[in-house]
Amino acid sequence: MDAPAKPAFPKVAGHLALDLVDTVHWRLDDARSIDTLPTFDELLRWSTEIAGCADLGDLRAAAVEVPDVAARELAAVIRLREAIYEAVFQGSDTAVDLVATEYAGAVQRSSLVRDPDQSSWTWSVPTGLTGPRTLIAREAQDLLTSDLSRARQCGDDACGWVYLDTSPRHNRIWCTAAGCGNRNRVARHQARKQH
Ligand SMILES: [Zn+2]
Repeated sequence: MDAPAKPAFPKVAGHLALDLVDTVHWRLDDARSIDTLPTFDELLRWSTEIAGCADLGDLRAAAVEVPDVAARELAAVIRLREAIYEAVFQGSDTAVDLVATEYAGAVQRSSLVRDPDQSSWTWSVPTGLTGPRTLIAREAQDLLTSDLSRARQCGDDACGWVYLDTSPRHNRIWCTAAGCGNRNRVARHQARKQH
């Protein structure tokens, strides 16, 4: 029998750091909440599918060699993910401090490499197990220092997915029109019929 299909990671937020926050499904309902990053391997899958990292086969192999290091990296990424959420949506100063500390570490681990066309330099993330955390910390800093007046959370009671509302009229209520939007429209329609 085939293994059950892995859940698809959402990319609906408009910023990579918020896409990471959205790896928790049903965040606002403890009974249904699902963390889709339970293993370092899944973090690597997210890094490839959503963050656009190149093939991470070497990292996958390295994680098998030193599982305790991989587990620590995953735990640090999860802490960072929750700090991004708490900083942006709960105004937590402690969370902002954690993002700042992680960003400082990320800069220390990164290096500037010359672009192929030799016209400029680009930050390069380390190729080791700290790579995903380094990339995410830089994205988190980028998010927190950008205009967050359009940061929103889905209007569904349980969903909890977050995004930047870049719609022309800034009236986006749902993470996705086809998901929460449609389900809530149907629910409202049913409720009206019963009255
Ligand atoms: Zn939603």
